Amino acid sequence: MKNSSPFNGHRAAVSLTYDDCMDCHLDLVAPALEARGFRGTFYTPVNAVLMERMDEWAAASRRGHELGNHTLFHPCRSYGGGDWIKPWRDLKAYDLPRWEAEVDLANLILNRIEGRTDRSFGNTCHQNTLGPDENPERLDEHMLPRFVAARGTKRDVDESIDPANLTPGNLGTLGGDGLSLDALKALVDMAVDRGHWIILTFHGVAQEAGRLTIAESTHSALLDHCAAHGDDLQIAPVREVMAALTSAE
Ligand SMILES: [Zn+2]
Repeated sequence: MKNSSPFNGHRAAVSLTYDDCMDCHLDLVAPALEARGFRGTFYTPVNAVLMERMDEWAAASRRGHELGNHTLFHPCRSYGGGDWIKPWRDLKAYDLPRWEAEVDLANLILNRIEGRTDRSFGNTCHQNTLGPDENPERLDEHMLPRFVAARGTKRDVDESIDPANLTPGNLGTLGGDGLSLDALKALVDMAVDRGHWIILTFHGVAQEAGRLTIAESTHSALLDHCAAHGDDLQIAPVREVMAALTSAE
């Protein structure tokens, strides 16, 4: 029985994750999740929205959402990311002690806001290495025990997380931005069919869809589709699904 339902008694799991600490996460996403009894993971860099609305983020955490670590300064490898990645925040120029100091300080801040220390890491730009392209250093083994798990790099759309074959330092995620409602529903159905876990990554949610923004109508319909799976599906923050999987071992 334990092996057939590792997700706290549910058949499969979906974690809905939202990056970059935006106003819409507090104003629109968290209420939409809670209206259906769901909770999500918000990967929050230490930005103005986090600091200015700290009490509201703390309250969201107390209601069961996860504030995941998304670094302080959101470093990424400079190629393909646009010119917002200045040389000082280029992961190619980072070494491990600098990355560790940054994510550990972000954790100290999030610990104070959440009043707890267990959380997952949401890789910035889905990247899982630092240092020069010729000699990149993988981050997988530096995630634990600093974090309960790391969301990690992007998976192909037909890949889901098999609880029997977990890689907590790099779980793998599916990008939700820009997908149609049908495509998003298919990912959820895939998880249920297989008895697997998927972690979906979103950024903004707004009236109109954009490159890193999903339309509110699509988002609501996706949540309704998840709810329609009933008890088959655990819809929970990354740290909570990891805790269920760990206790099922
Ligand atoms: Zn981000």
